[in-house]
Amino acid sequence: MAANCDVVVLGAGAAGMMCAIRAGQRGRSVILIDHAKAPGDKIRISGGGRCNFTNIHAGAKNYLSANPHFAKSALARYTPRDFLDLVERHGIAWHEKTLGQLFCDDSAKDIIRMLLAEMKAANVDMRLQTQISSVEKTPDGFRVATSGGTVTAANLVVATGGKSIPKMGATGLAYDIARQFDLSLVETRPGLVPLTLDPALLERLAPLSGVSVDAELRHARPVFARRCSLPIAA
Ligand SMILES: Cc1cc2nc3c(=O)[nH]c(=O)nc-3n(C[C@H](O)[C@H](O)[C@H](O)COP(=O)(O)OP(=O)(O)OC[C@H]3O[C@@H](n4cnc5c(N)ncnc54)[C@H](O)[C@@H]3O)c2cc1C
Repeated sequence: MAANCDVVVLGAGAAGMMCAIRAGQRGRSVILIDHAKAPGDKIRISGGGRCNFTNIHAGAKNYLSANPHFAKSALARYTPRDFLDLVERHGIAWHEKTLGQLFCDDSAKDIIRMLLAEMKAANVDMRLQTQISSVEKTPDGFRVATSGGTVTAANLVVATGGKSIPKMGATGLAYDIARQFDLSLVETRPGLVPLTLDPALLERLAPLSGVSVDAELRHARPVFARRCSLPIAA
Protein backbone atom coordinates (compact mmCIF):
# COMPACT_ATOMS: atom_id res chain seq x y z
CA MET A 1 0.00 0.00 0.00
CA ALA A 2 1.43 3.40 -0.98
CA ALA A 3 2.04 5.96 1.75
CA ASN A 4 3.33 9.51 1.94
CA CYS A 5 4.99 11.28 4.86
CA ASP A 6 7.32 14.16 5.67
CA VAL A 7 10.25 11.97 6.75
CA VAL A 8 11.04 8.35 5.95
CA VAL A 9 13.72 6.86 8.21
CA LEU A 10 15.47 3.63 7.18
CA GLY A 11 16.71 1.55 10.14
CA ALA A 12 15.15 1.21 13.60
CA GLY A 13 18.38 1.12 15.58
CA ALA A 14 19.47 3.69 18.16
CA ALA A 15 20.12 6.38 15.54
CA GLY A 16 16.97 5.80 13.47
CA MET A 17 14.68 5.73 16.51
CA MET A 18 16.17 8.90 18.03
CA CYS A 19 15.87 10.67 14.67
CA ALA A 20 12.26 9.52 14.20
CA ILE A 21 11.40 10.72 17.72
CA ARG A 22 12.91 14.18 17.20
CA ALA A 23 11.25 14.61 13.77
CA GLY A 24 7.89 13.45 15.19
CA GLN A 25 8.21 15.84 18.14
CA ARG A 26 8.64 18.67 15.63
CA GLY A 27 5.28 17.80 14.11
CA ARG A 28 6.59 15.89 11.07
CA SER A 29 4.79 12.75 9.92
CA VAL A 30 7.36 9.94 10.13
CA ILE A 31 7.54 6.39 8.77
CA LEU A 32 10.36 4.23 10.18
CA ILE A 33 11.25 1.10 8.21
CA ASP A 34 13.34 -1.92 9.27
CA HIS A 35 13.67 -5.46 7.97
CA ALA A 36 14.21 -6.91 11.46
CA LYS A 37 11.54 -8.46 13.66
CA ALA A 38 12.29 -6.10 16.56
CA PRO A 39 13.78 -2.62 16.83
CA GLY A 40 17.09 -1.81 18.54
CA ASP A 41 18.63 -5.27 18.55
CA LYS A 42 22.14 -3.88 19.08
CA ILE A 43 20.91 -1.79 22.01
CA ARG A 44 19.67 -5.03 23.57
CA ILE A 45 23.17 -6.56 23.61
CA SER A 46 24.99 -3.32 24.38
CA GLY A 47 26.97 -2.82 27.57
CA GLY A 48 26.81 -6.54 28.40
CA GLY A 49 22.97 -6.33 28.41
CA ARG A 50 22.83 -3.18 30.59
CA CYS A 51 23.51 -0.55 27.88
CA ASN A 52 26.26 1.94 28.58
CA PHE A 53 23.74 4.59 27.43
CA THR A 54 25.99 7.65 27.74
CA ASN A 55 29.16 9.00 29.26
CA ILE A 56 28.45 12.11 31.26
CA HIS A 57 31.88 13.57 30.34
CA ALA A 58 31.51 12.87 26.60
CA GLY A 59 32.53 15.81 24.45
CA ALA A 60 33.55 16.52 20.88
CA LYS A 61 37.21 15.78 21.67
CA ASN A 62 36.29 12.14 22.32
CA TYR A 63 35.23 11.57 18.70
CA LEU A 64 37.61 10.72 15.86
CA SER A 65 36.26 12.06 12.59
CA ALA A 66 37.35 13.49 9.28
CA ASN A 67 35.00 16.35 10.19
CA PRO A 68 35.59 17.19 13.89
CA HIS A 69 33.04 20.02 13.70
CA PHE A 70 30.19 17.54 13.27
CA ALA A 71 30.53 16.21 16.83
CA LYS A 72 30.83 19.77 18.15
CA SER A 73 27.53 20.93 16.66
CA ALA A 74 25.70 17.64 17.37
CA LEU A 75 26.75 17.55 21.04
CA ALA A 76 26.05 21.26 21.51
CA ARG A 77 22.43 20.63 20.49
CA TYR A 78 21.91 17.37 22.42
CA THR A 79 24.14 16.70 25.39
CA PRO A 80 24.70 13.57 27.52
CA ARG A 81 22.67 15.39 30.23
CA ASP A 82 19.70 15.67 27.82
CA PHE A 83 19.73 11.89 27.34
CA LEU A 84 20.09 11.31 31.07
CA ASP A 85 17.05 13.57 31.68
CA LEU A 86 15.07 11.40 29.24
CA VAL A 87 16.16 8.22 31.02
CA GLU A 88 15.13 9.70 34.37
CA ARG A 89 11.76 10.90 33.04
CA HIS A 90 11.07 7.25 32.19
CA GLY A 91 12.00 6.15 35.70
CA ILE A 92 14.91 3.97 34.51
CA ALA A 93 17.33 3.27 37.35
CA TRP A 94 21.00 3.80 36.42
CA HIS A 95 24.44 3.85 37.93
CA GLU A 96 27.87 5.25 37.07
CA LYS A 97 30.44 2.53 36.58
CA THR A 98 33.78 4.20 35.97
CA LEU A 99 34.91 7.52 34.51
CA GLY A 100 31.39 8.79 33.81
CA GLN A 101 30.07 5.63 32.07
CA LEU A 102 26.34 5.35 32.80
CA PHE A 103 24.59 1.97 32.69
CA CYS A 104 21.02 0.77 33.36
CA ASP A 105 20.73 -0.95 36.74
CA ASP A 106 18.44 -3.58 35.28
CA SER A 107 18.42 -4.14 31.52
CA ALA A 108 19.22 -2.53 28.16
CA LYS A 109 15.65 -3.46 27.23
CA ASP A 110 14.54 -0.52 29.41
CA ILE A 111 16.20 1.82 26.90
CA ILE A 112 14.40 0.13 23.99
CA ARG A 113 11.07 0.39 25.84
CA MET A 114 11.78 4.09 26.50
CA LEU A 115 12.48 4.76 22.81
CA LEU A 116 9.32 2.86 21.79
CA ALA A 117 7.23 4.93 24.22
CA GLU A 118 8.76 8.16 22.88
CA MET A 119 8.05 7.04 19.30
CA LYS A 120 4.44 6.30 20.20
CA ALA A 121 4.05 9.74 21.80
CA ALA A 122 5.57 11.32 18.66
CA ASN A 123 3.16 9.35 16.38
CA VAL A 124 5.95 7.55 14.52
CA ASP A 125 4.62 4.84 12.19
CA MET A 126 7.11 1.96 12.61
CA ARG A 127 7.08 -0.81 10.00
CA LEU A 128 9.14 -3.87 10.93
CA GLN A 129 9.90 -6.98 8.84
CA THR A 130 9.81 -4.74 5.80
CA GLN A 131 12.36 -5.27 3.03
CA ILE A 132 13.71 -2.25 1.19
CA SER A 133 14.19 -2.90 -2.53
CA SER A 134 15.09 0.55 -3.88
CA VAL A 135 15.52 4.21 -3.03
CA GLU A 136 15.03 6.87 -5.70
CA LYS A 137 15.12 10.65 -5.87
CA THR A 138 11.91 12.27 -7.13
CA PRO A 139 11.20 15.93 -7.93
CA ASP A 140 9.47 16.27 -4.50
CA GLY A 141 11.79 14.16 -2.39
CA PHE A 142 12.35 10.42 -2.30
CA ARG A 143 10.56 7.19 -3.17
CA VAL A 144 11.35 4.02 -1.22
CA ALA A 145 10.07 0.73 -2.63
CA THR A 146 9.46 -1.84 0.11
CA SER A 147 7.85 -5.24 0.55
CA GLY A 148 4.97 -3.36 2.23
CA GLY A 149 4.43 -0.91 -0.65
CA THR A 150 5.93 2.37 -1.81
CA VAL A 151 6.69 5.17 0.63
CA THR A 152 7.22 8.70 -0.66
CA ALA A 153 8.62 11.45 1.54
CA ALA A 154 10.08 14.94 1.30
CA ASN A 155 13.03 13.83 3.47
CA LEU A 156 15.01 10.60 3.67
CA VAL A 157 17.17 9.54 6.63
CA VAL A 158 19.44 6.54 6.16
CA ALA A 159 20.21 5.04 9.59
CA THR A 160 20.81 1.42 8.68
CA GLY A 161 24.03 1.29 10.70
CA GLY A 162 27.40 -0.25 9.96
CA LYS A 163 28.23 -3.66 8.60
CA SER A 164 29.17 -5.40 11.83
CA ILE A 165 27.21 -8.46 13.00
CA PRO A 166 25.18 -9.39 9.89
CA LYS A 167 23.48 -12.08 12.01
CA MET A 168 21.74 -9.19 13.81
CA GLY A 169 20.44 -7.64 10.59
CA ALA A 170 23.41 -5.48 9.56
CA THR A 171 23.76 -4.89 5.82
CA GLY A 172 25.71 -2.50 3.62
CA LEU A 173 22.54 -0.70 2.47
CA ALA A 174 23.72 2.73 3.67
CA TYR A 175 26.95 2.34 1.66
CA ASP A 176 25.00 1.25 -1.44
CA ILE A 177 22.71 4.27 -1.15
CA ALA A 178 25.70 6.59 -0.64
CA ARG A 179 27.32 5.19 -3.81
CA GLN A 180 24.05 5.51 -5.71
CA PHE A 181 23.92 9.22 -4.81
CA ASP A 182 27.66 9.73 -5.53
CA LEU A 183 28.47 10.57 -1.93
CA SER A 184 32.11 10.06 -1.01
CA LEU A 185 32.81 7.18 1.37
CA VAL A 186 35.53 6.60 3.92
CA GLU A 187 36.89 3.08 3.41
CA THR A 188 35.48 0.79 6.12
CA ARG A 189 37.49 -1.44 8.46
CA PRO A 190 36.47 -3.32 11.61
CA GLY A 191 36.40 -0.99 14.61
CA LEU A 192 35.58 -3.48 17.35
CA VAL A 193 37.46 -6.76 17.04
CA PRO A 194 38.53 -9.52 19.42
CA LEU A 195 42.20 -10.01 20.21
CA THR A 196 43.54 -12.70 17.90
CA LEU A 197 46.24 -14.83 19.47
CA ASP A 198 48.50 -17.69 18.56
CA PRO A 199 46.35 -20.89 18.89
CA ALA A 200 48.80 -22.44 21.41
CA LEU A 201 48.64 -19.34 23.63
CA LEU A 202 44.87 -19.19 23.22
CA GLU A 203 44.57 -22.75 24.56
CA ARG A 204 46.48 -21.75 27.70
CA LEU A 205 44.41 -18.59 28.18
CA ALA A 206 41.01 -20.20 27.46
CA PRO A 207 40.26 -20.98 31.14
CA LEU A 208 40.57 -17.24 31.87
CA SER A 209 37.67 -16.41 29.55
CA GLY A 210 35.43 -13.71 31.06
CA VAL A 211 38.04 -12.44 33.52
CA SER A 212 38.87 -8.70 33.43
CA VAL A 213 42.29 -7.38 34.43
CA ASP A 214 43.71 -3.91 34.91
CA ALA A 215 46.37 -3.48 32.27
CA GLU A 216 48.58 -0.86 30.77
CA LEU A 217 48.88 -0.90 27.00
CA ARG A 218 51.79 0.53 25.04
CA HIS A 219 51.82 0.90 21.28
CA ALA A 220 55.01 -0.17 19.45
CA ARG A 221 55.41 3.49 18.59
CA PRO A 222 54.57 5.14 21.91
CA VAL A 223 51.62 7.16 20.66
CA PHE A 224 49.47 6.34 23.63
CA ALA A 225 49.57 4.53 26.91
CA ARG A 226 46.56 4.11 29.10
CA ARG A 227 45.21 1.94 31.81
CA CYS A 228 42.21 -0.11 30.86
CA SER A 229 40.27 -3.19 31.78
CA LEU A 230 40.79 -5.95 29.25
CA PRO A 231 38.03 -8.55 28.95
CA ILE A 232 39.72 -11.82 27.98
CA ALA A 233 37.59 -13.83 25.55
CA ALA A 234 38.53 -17.27 24.29
C1 LIG B 1 28.47 -6.17 21.64
C2 LIG B 1 28.25 -4.67 21.51
C3 LIG B 1 28.15 -3.90 22.66
C4 LIG B 1 27.96 -2.52 22.55
N1 LIG B 1 27.82 -1.78 23.69
C5 LIG B 1 27.57 -0.46 23.61
C6 LIG B 1 27.30 0.31 24.77
O1 LIG B 1 27.25 -0.20 25.88
N2 LIG B 1 27.09 1.65 24.60
C7 LIG B 1 27.08 2.26 23.36
O2 LIG B 1 26.86 3.47 23.27
N3 LIG B 1 27.30 1.53 22.23
C8 LIG B 1 27.53 0.20 22.34
N4 LIG B 1 27.73 -0.53 21.20
C9 LIG B 1 27.66 0.15 19.90
C10 LIG B 1 26.19 0.44 19.58
O3 LIG B 1 25.43 -0.73 19.76
C11 LIG B 1 26.06 0.93 18.14
O4 LIG B 1 26.96 2.00 17.92
C12 LIG B 1 24.66 1.42 17.85
O5 LIG B 1 23.71 0.44 18.20
C13 LIG B 1 24.55 1.76 16.40
O6 LIG B 1 23.24 2.23 16.18
P1 LIG B 1 22.73 2.51 14.72
O7 LIG B 1 21.29 2.95 14.85
O8 LIG B 1 23.66 3.43 14.00
O9 LIG B 1 22.83 1.12 13.95
P2 LIG B 1 22.18 -0.30 14.28
O10 LIG B 1 21.89 -0.46 15.72
O11 LIG B 1 23.03 -1.30 13.58
O12 LIG B 1 20.76 -0.21 13.58
C14 LIG B 1 20.59 -0.33 12.19
C15 LIG B 1 19.20 -0.85 11.91
O13 LIG B 1 19.03 -0.88 10.50
C16 LIG B 1 18.44 -2.10 10.11
N5 LIG B 1 18.87 -2.43 8.75
C17 LIG B 1 20.13 -2.68 8.33
N6 LIG B 1 20.12 -2.97 7.02
C18 LIG B 1 18.83 -2.88 6.61
C19 LIG B 1 18.18 -3.09 5.36
N7 LIG B 1 18.87 -3.44 4.24
N8 LIG B 1 16.83 -2.95 5.29
C20 LIG B 1 16.12 -2.61 6.40
N9 LIG B 1 16.67 -2.41 7.62
C21 LIG B 1 18.03 -2.53 7.71
C22 LIG B 1 18.92 -3.12 11.13
O14 LIG B 1 18.00 -4.21 11.24
C23 LIG B 1 18.98 -2.28 12.42
O15 LIG B 1 17.78 -2.34 13.16
C24 LIG B 1 27.89 -1.91 21.28
C25 LIG B 1 27.97 -2.69 20.12
C26 LIG B 1 28.14 -4.06 20.23
C27 LIG B 1 28.21 -4.88 18.97
